[in-house]
Amino acid sequence: MEKVLKKPIILDGKALSLQLRQKIEQEVRGYVSMGHRAPSLAVVLVGDDPASQVYVENKQKACQKVGIRSLLYHLPKNTRLEELLELIAQLNADQEVDGILVQLPLPPHIPQQEVILSIDPKKDVDGFHPENMGKLVARIEDGFIPCTPLGIDLLLSHHGIELKGADVVVVGAGFIVGRPLSLLLLWRDATVSVCHIHTKDISEYTRRADILISATGVPHLIKGHMVKEGAVVVDVGISRVRDRIVGDVDFEEVKEKAYAITPVPGGVGPMTVTALLMNTLKAYRLNSSIK
Ligand code: NAD
Repeated sequence: MEKVLKKPIILDGKALSLQLRQKIEQEVRGYVSMGHRAPSLAVVLVGDDPASQVYVENKQKACQKVGIRSLLYHLPKNTRLEELLELIAQLNADQEVDGILVQLPLPPHIPQQEVILSIDPKKDVDGFHPENMGKLVARIEDGFIPCTPLGIDLLLSHHGIELKGADVVVVGAGFIVGRPLSLLLLWRDATVSVCHIHTKDISEYTRRADILISATGVPHLIKGHMVKEGAVVVDVGISRVRDRIVGDVDFEEVKEKAYAITPVPGGVGPMTVTALLMNTLKAYRLNSSIK
C-alpha cells in the first residue's frame, strides 16, 4: 500500500507579516492624509556587532516601507553610559519621537538594566521596561508586549491555534523571549511549563506539549522523539552554522510529527519585526492621542 505523506501546516510568518504590514501602511497613510505627522521610531545602536547591524537595518527598512520615520543613532562601542543616558533623555523629551529601541546586546561595560530603566515606558516599544513587564503580569492592555512574544501570539491566533487550556511548553527562559512569552501565554489562559538550562530532562516536558515553543539559540536542540504527534511547534532560535541560519528545531525530523510548524527563516523572525511596527503605531497613538 502506498504510504500517505502527511504535510504539516507551515506557520508562514513572512506571508502573515506582508498582510499585517499592508494594514499598518494603510493606517499610517490615513493619518498622514489627515494632516498628522508620520509615526517615528528612534533606533539606538552601540558598537559594531555585525548581527545587531543586520537586525537594525531590517527594522529600519520595514519602518520605511510602511511610512514610519526611522531615525538611527549609531554610537561607537566605547560610548560611556552617561552619554547613552543623555541621548535617551533627549529622545524621551522629543515630542516627535514616538518609539525608542535600544538594540541589545549592549557592549559589556554598559549595564543593560540601567539603560532599559531610562527609557520612557510610553515609548518603550520593545516592552522591556519593568513598567511594561508589570503590565504584562497584570494584564493591562495599554502596555507594550515584547515584540517576539507578541509576534508569536499573532501568528498562532491567525492560524486558529487555541491557547486557552492548551499545554504549552516553552524551552528557554531568557529575558527577551522565554520569560515574557510565558507571561503572555498565561494571559491567554494556557497551561505553561518553562524549561531552561537547569531543567533535568526537557524531553519529559516537551513530549507532553500541545504547543512547543523553543527559544534557546541551541541549534537543533529539539529532535523528533521529543515532540508529541500532532503538536504545534514554534521555533524562535536563530543560530549561524557554517553560513546557514538554523533554528532550535530539527525541522526535517520534527515536521514528520507536527500538525503545524514554523520555518527558520521566515517564521518568527518577520513576525518580530511586524510586532515592532505595531508597537510603534501604538506608541504614536498614545503620544498623539489618536484613538
Ligand atoms: P538567552 O540567552 O537570553 O536565553 C536562552 C535561554 O535558553 C536561557 O533561559 C537558557 O537557560 C536556555 N537554554 C540554553 N541552552 C539550553 C538547553 N540546552 N536546554 C534547555 N534550555 C537551554 O537568549 P534569548 O535572547 O532568549 O534568545 C534565544 C534565541 O532566540 C536565540 O537564538 C536568539 O537569536 C533567538 N531570537 C530570535 C528572535 C526572532 O525574532 N526569531 C528574536 C529574539 C531572539
